[in-house]
Amino acid sequence: MNRTKKIVVLGATGSIGKQTLTCVDDANRLRPGTFEIVGLSAYSNVQALAELAKRYPKAGLACVGLSMTGSAPTCSNLGTRWFFGPDAIRKLLDSLEADLVVNGVASAAGFLASILALEHDCDLALANKESVVMGFSQIKKLADAKGLSIIPVDSEHAALFQLTSRIGTQSITELTLTASGGPFRTMPLEQLKAITPEDAARHPVWKMGKKISIDSATLANKGLELIEAVRLFSMPEDRVSILIHPESIVHALVRTKDSALYAYMSEPDMKLPINIALNWPEEEPALYGRLDLAGKILHFEAPDTGRFPMLRLAREALRLDEAVTNAYNAANEVAVSAFVEHRILFTQIPEVVENTLSKNWSLETADIDSIFEIDARARHYAEEYVRKVSC
Ligand code: NDP
Ligand code: MG
Repeated sequence: MNRTKKIVVLGATGSIGKQTLTCVDDANRLRPGTFEIVGLSAYSNVQALAELAKRYPKAGLACVGLSMTGSAPTCSNLGTRWFFGPDAIRKLLDSLEADLVVNGVASAAGFLASILALEHDCDLALANKESVVMGFSQIKKLADAKGLSIIPVDSEHAALFQLTSRIGTQSITELTLTASGGPFRTMPLEQLKAITPEDAARHPVWKMGKKISIDSATLANKGLELIEAVRLFSMPEDRVSILIHPESIVHALVRTKDSALYAYMSEPDMKLPINIALNWPEEEPALYGRLDLAGKILHFEAPDTGRFPMLRLAREALRLDEAVTNAYNAANEVAVSAFVEHRILFTQIPEVVENTLSKNWSLETADIDSIFEIDARARHYAEEYVRKVSC
């Protein structure tokens, strides 16, 4: 593609969003005019968005969690298009033309962002794994109907995307995702109860937003990623495994029919998968993640599902259907918020999810509204359980 690629970054003030903008700036320094930022969004961090407006003066701006009235002093002196409120991303996308939307929105709110990106005929660079867990059937239907691409940004899935497209899906029999194992991999079990939200948010390798860091500590993040891998690569659940690999150098592996394993390795740096997604289907310039293996010692072990029940629960949800994986995600979000608010213990997060999954989930996910209904119902059950057990 020789013309400038027009890009919208949703969740621009977060970890993925900021790293995306670094990749865009680096690419434009190397080859001026490679990318143009035409839209940016945040939830409530209007100050950070106003700063970005100075850096990208042509971008429209959406602030989903605020109204115009409260934010006028911050943005009134900028001659940019601003949109506020729950419908801000839709209005932003209505107001522009873009080739690619990077979805770096945190949590379940990212599902609607994915739908809106595809409805507006944009390819989707997808960091928001919750979109796939909540309602991949709707996302896939929309993308297929419009001939649009979904390019995974989550590092393990970006690695699988590279391995499967380079090796060919017909030769691949199994997928493996690696997990760092989080900060409590070797902590004695009886100490897990005393973990604070601050301890849980401190990831040993990756610098990420708070929610995904806590999910990495419970391995709910790997549960979500297992579901993501099964759906994105149309692989049966029992052919996708998880391997603990504390160094986070190998991001994913595939096994081929001849039983050989192929590993995808790089330094742990999200800018590598982001840069690949920004440039896709062109090959990206080699800017990030270059690995020198000399002197590196890599470790691998099977996950302890007794210590990390969120992995077992993700598999159980996956064996049922999309309504149940949607409920898994919603219940986990409620449980993580309750843990952050010191209402439940770290070890009660999986209890909240297990209790929610035990309800009746024989529901259809035939349209987008039913996906939101299931999400709301699961939040209600999870909140009810939190109230019952809260400390
Ligand atoms: P952050 O918490 O750092 O950033 C989240 C972004 O989303 C912020 O811009 C925030 O705005 C915005 N946001 C939050 N809530 C809403 C909402 N309700 N509606 C619209 N926008 C909202 O998250 P991360 O960047 O860490 O993660 C983003 C997504 O990417 C998640 O789905 C995560 O699982 C996934 N991911 C992240 C990785 C990482 O390295 N960080 C790696 C792989 C996947 P504001 O600043 O105003 O609050
Ligand atoms: Mg990941």
